[in-house]
Amino acid sequence: MSAAEWPFACPLPPEDARKRRAMILTALCTRDGGFASLPAGRLLEDTPARMLRLYDELFFRGFLSRAYGTLRVTLSSRLTSSAGKFIYARSARERLRSAEIRMSTDFLYRLDQGPFLLNGLSVATPQEAFLVVFEHELCHAAETALFGSTGHSARFLSLARGLFGHTGTRHSLPTRRDAAAQNGLSVGSAVLFEMEGKTVRGLLTYVGKTATVMVPDSRGAFRDKAGRRYAKYRVSLPLLRCAADARESG
Ligand SMILES: [Zn+2]
Repeated sequence: MSAAEWPFACPLPPEDARKRRAMILTALCTRDGGFASLPAGRLLEDTPARMLRLYDELFFRGFLSRAYGTLRVTLSSRLTSSAGKFIYARSARERLRSAEIRMSTDFLYRLDQGPFLLNGLSVATPQEAFLVVFEHELCHAAETALFGSTGHSARFLSLARGLFGHTGTRHSLPTRRDAAAQNGLSVGSAVLFEMEGKTVRGLLTYVGKTATVMVPDSRGAFRDKAGRRYAKYRVSLPLLRCAADARESG
C-alpha cells in the first residue's frame, strides 16, 4: 500500500514518532502516579482510555474512533503469555465495533529495569515498553479497520515502521516462564518450598502466574503411571527454590 492511501500521515519522520511517544508518556505519567512509579503500580481507571485517545489524536488523526466508535482498552493480570492482544470478531460487524485491546498488567507490574528490546526498538522503562506494546496492537486495530484482517504481513510492517519506527514484531520482555528459567526453574525441575514450617519437595509441572508443584503424598489425589500418589500445590514462583541449589547451600 502506498503512503497516500493511509487515512493518516504515514510514514512519519522517525524523530516525530519519538517526540509524540514521549509526549504521551509524559502526559500519562504526570497524571497517574501509579503508572509512573517503578515498578508500576495500579493504574488510574481512565489511563488506558486516555492513552488510546492520545495515540488516536497524535498518530491516527482520529481514524480509530471514527472506524470503531468504541475501541475498548482493558487491563488483564491473567494475560501472561503476551504483553498485549488485539481481539475482534471477523464476521459480525457489530462485534468489530466493540473490538478490544487487552494489555497485560502482569508484564507492566513485574518489569523494573530496562532496556527492553521490543518490536525492534530498545526502550528504557516499563512504561515506555507498555506504550510500544500498545502501538503494536494499535497497528493491528488500524489494519483490521481498513482491510478486515490483520497479521504480520509486509503491509502491517510498513504501518508499524511508518508510524512508530518498529522494525520487528518480537519482544524480549521476560515472561514468568523466562524469569523462572533464569532462576534454574523449569517444568520438570525438582523444587523445594516452605509450608507450615516444613520444607516440602516436589516436581514443578506448570509455570504461570503461580506454579503447580506435585508433591509425593500417599493420600494424594493424583497418581502417576507407576502408581505413586501426589498432592497438587499451587505456589507463588518466588517461594520456590531449585532442589539442586538447596543441596549445594545446605
Ligand atoms: Zn502482532
